[in-house]
Amino acid sequence: MSNPTYDAVVVGSGPNGLAAAIALQQAGLAVLLLEGKTELGGGLRTAELTLPGFRHDICSAIHPLAVASPFFQTLPLAQYGLNYITPPVAAAHPFDDGTAATVTASLADSAQTLGADADAYQRLLAPLIASWPGIANDVLAPLQFPKHPLDMARFGSLALLPATVLARRFGDEKAKGLLAGMAAHTIQPLSNLATSAAGLVLLVAAHRRGWPLAQGGSQSLADALVAHFRALGGHVETGTYVRSLTQLPSARAVLLDVTPAQLLQIAGHKLSSLYRWQLRRYRYGMGVYKVDWALAEPIPFTAAACRQAGTVHLGGTLAEIAAGERGAARGQHPARPFVLLAQQSQFDPTRAPAGQHTAWAYCHVPNGSRVDMTDTIERQVERFAPGFRERILGCHTFDTAQMEDYNPNYVGGDINGGVLDIRQLFTRPVLRASPYRTSQRGLYLCSSATPPGGGVHGMCGYYAARRALRDVFRLPAPPLHQEP
Ligand SMILES: Cc1cc2nc3c(=O)[nH]c(=O)nc-3n(C[C@H](O)[C@H](O)[C@H](O)COP(=O)(O)OP(=O)(O)OC[C@H]3O[C@@H](n4cnc5c(N)ncnc54)[C@H](O)[C@@H]3O)c2cc1C
Repeated sequence: MSNPTYDAVVVGSGPNGLAAAIALQQAGLAVLLLEGKTELGGGLRTAELTLPGFRHDICSAIHPLAVASPFFQTLPLAQYGLNYITPPVAAAHPFDDGTAATVTASLADSAQTLGADADAYQRLLAPLIASWPGIANDVLAPLQFPKHPLDMARFGSLALLPATVLARRFGDEKAKGLLAGMAAHTIQPLSNLATSAAGLVLLVAAHRRGWPLAQGGSQSLADALVAHFRALGGHVETGTYVRSLTQLPSARAVLLDVTPAQLLQIAGHKLSSLYRWQLRRYRYGMGVYKVDWALAEPIPFTAAACRQAGTVHLGGTLAEIAAGERGAARGQHPARPFVLLAQQSQFDPTRAPAGQHTAWAYCHVPNGSRVDMTDTIERQVERFAPGFRERILGCHTFDTAQMEDYNPNYVGGDINGGVLDIRQLFTRPVLRASPYRTSQRGLYLCSSATPPGGGVHGMCGYYAARRALRDVFRLPAPPLHQEP
C-alpha cells in the first residue's frame, strides 16, 4: 500500500466510484482510488469475450443516462478520447406481425409507428420533453425540494404509476408494448408502483439526445474518467480487494462503491447495531442472464427499422412482458422472457473485424439463478430475426453467480445494486437524513445502492462526495451542469 497521506480514499472504480473520486479531487483534496480488479471501470469494462477482434461490453452498453448526467456533462471527457455514437433509432420494439415501434429523435415520427395511439403518445411525452431541462437535475438526484415544483409534480404523478396503469392511456398493443419494454429496464414486476419512472426517463432521453454508445466500447468512458482523475492529480491502485477498513491508508473520509452486503463485511464492526440491522433488511432484486455473440453478419431482423436501432426490446406485447417480469420476480424462468439486445457494431466498426458483428443481450431471471438461458434468449432473437442463429460465430455467457463473481456489487446477479422499487427508490440503502452517510463518521456509501440508483450516470458518487465534502472538509462540491 502506498504512503498513507490521503484526504479521502474511494474503494471501487465503477462510474459512481470514479465520479466520487473526481468530485473530491476537483475540490483540491488528495484522493486515492482503490479497485479490487486489475482493470478499472466496474460496469464500464469492454473485452474480447468471444473471439479475437470482437470487443464486447461486459456490463453496460448504452448510455442515455451518462449523456444526461448533470455531473458527467461538466467533465472534459472528449479531451480524453471519449466519443459517443448515436444510432439513428434509439430503441426498436418488434412485434410478431413483422412491424416495429421505434423511438427516434423525432417525437412525431416515433408516434407514427404507434398507429392509433400516435396522438396519445405525443400528448404524454411532449410536455415531459419540454420540461426536462428544468427537472433533470432533480430526477437524477436524492429526494430534494425541486427547482420547478409544478413540472416535477406532473412528472412525478405519471412516474409513480405502475407501468401497467400508465399503459391504459393507450388503446393499441404497440404503444402498450413499447412502454412495457421501457419500464422493464427497472427490473421488477410492471404492476409495481413507480415502474413508469424508468420508462418515461428513458423515452424522454431518447427523444432529446438519443441512446448513444461509446466508440470503442463502454471502457472508453471509464478510461476517460480515469484519465481526467489522474490529470487532476488523483492516485489509482488496482488489484487491491478491500475486505476490511484496516487495509486502507488513513484518510479523513472513505467512500465505498459497494452495496450493503459488502459494507457489512468490510465495516460491520464499526457500524451501529441499528444501522447494521437496517442494512440487513436491504433487498436485492432479480438477476440477469447475459449473452454476448460474435456474428458473421448483422442480425436479420424482419422489421427493417430494428436494423437501425442501437437497442432492440424483444418481448412483444405488454401482457407477455409483464408476465415474464412477474414470473422471474416469483422465482420462475419464463419461456419467452423480455430480452434487451444491443448491436453496437452496426454503428461502431471498432467492435468487430471488418464486415462482422457483435451483439449483447440479457434477460431477467430469479436472484441467484443458475439456469442456462442461452437457448431461451436465442429463441427470442430468432422469433423476430429468423436466421439469426446461422450467423453466430462465437458466444459467451454469464449466469447470475458468474456475474457476481465478476463484480461483487451484482449480488445474486442484481445489476441495480438492490431493488429499485418505491420502498428503496429514495431510501436506499436505509432511511436516513442522508442516504450516503453510514453510522460511522467519515464513512460513506457511493454506489448504485444509494439514490438515484442503477445506471451509468455517476450521480450516486457525486452526491456521496458532496456529502463528504460538506461533513468532513467544509468544502463546496463542484457545480452541476444545468440544462439550458
Ligand atoms: C449486464 C449489464 C448491463 C447493463 N447495461 C447498462 C446500460 O446499458 N446502461 C446503463 O446505464 N447501465 C447499465 N448497467 C448498469 C450499470 O453498469 C451499473 O448500474 C453501474 O455500473 C453501477 O455503478 P457503480 O459505480 O455503482 O458500481 P459498479 O459499476 O458495479 O462498480 C463497482 C466497482 O467496485 C469494485 N469493488 C467492489 N467491491 C470491492 C472491494 N471490496 N474492494 C475493491 N473493489 C471493489 C468492483 O470491482 C467494481 O469495479 C448494466 C449492468 C450490467 C451488469
